[in-house]
Amino acid sequence: MIKYFLIALLFFSNAHASDIINITFLGTGTPRPDINKLGPSVLIKYANEELLLDVGRGSALRINQIGNDFSKISNIFISHMHYDHIIGIADLWLTSNLWQRKKDINIFGPNSIKSFCDNLMKSYSEDIKYRYKENNYSKLNCLKFSERNHKSNNIEIIEFTNNHGHIDNSYGFKINYKNKSIVYSGDTTYSENVIKNSMNADILIHEVIAASPKIYESNHKLKKVFSTHTSIEQLVKILSLCKPKLTILNHALLFGISEERVLSEIRKNYSGDVIFSRDLMSVDLGEEINIFNIGK
Ligand SMILES: [Zn+2]
Ligand SMILES: [Zn+2]
Repeated sequence: MIKYFLIALLFFSNAHASDIINITFLGTGTPRPDINKLGPSVLIKYANEELLLDVGRGSALRINQIGNDFSKISNIFISHMHYDHIIGIADLWLTSNLWQRKKDINIFGPNSIKSFCDNLMKSYSEDIKYRYKENNYSKLNCLKFSERNHKSNNIEIIEFTNNHGHIDNSYGFKINYKNKSIVYSGDTTYSENVIKNSMNADILIHEVIAASPKIYESNHKLKKVFSTHTSIEQLVKILSLCKPKLTILNHALLFGISEERVLSEIRKNYSGDVIFSRDLMSVDLGEEINIFNIGK
């Protein structure tokens, strides 16, 4: 059963109970700047542990906004190297040091994540030299997915390749926790692999792209963008096959079309629960699904 709580306060999910896993959307946007939809980043909380999926623009701001402890996030998973998914890493890392974080931050991602982190640490070396003595600061410990030790008592996080067009190193994630599953599609067009991993998921967080016919027809560049993302038609096909308990549309690229219109188009051919994500929306997944701070 899915329950919605239309509340204006920012953070009060019930994620204390160890059988509940909580999803908090820190940012739900795209590369286009939008103060109400910061860059893509999803905070997952379970059994007193926390991890992040992607670190888009403003993630550190949102973590501060929900009153979260920076030092609690020890593992970060990056879906792909498009800048909108990684641009918040430097801010999160350096700001958590300001909060006297000592433990290194583990970041798992595509093959180039290592050189990205090394270069990032080099780029900020002057600031670090000025602030911290004798290596006394937290560093980025970045590993390719293939180097990751998957073993964990509490949770299983599986990365799987999706289909983000020309990007050959793009992933989605499946999270298994106490017989519940959450799937994060990452940036992708229709992908058999996303479908395979999302079968009967409790919550599927999926991206979407849509445009008004007028804008779509008159814009050549947009047609190319469509080929690397998931259209409404493709989404309906995916959802009809996977039948997630709840679908949360995220990283929505909408051109001249409203969220309401997108939902009504989907509902013509799919009757399952579908909502759009909102920045700071919080979802508790346990025996039931409770959604907090859903906005208007
Ligand atoms: Zn993106
Ligand atoms: Zn992308």
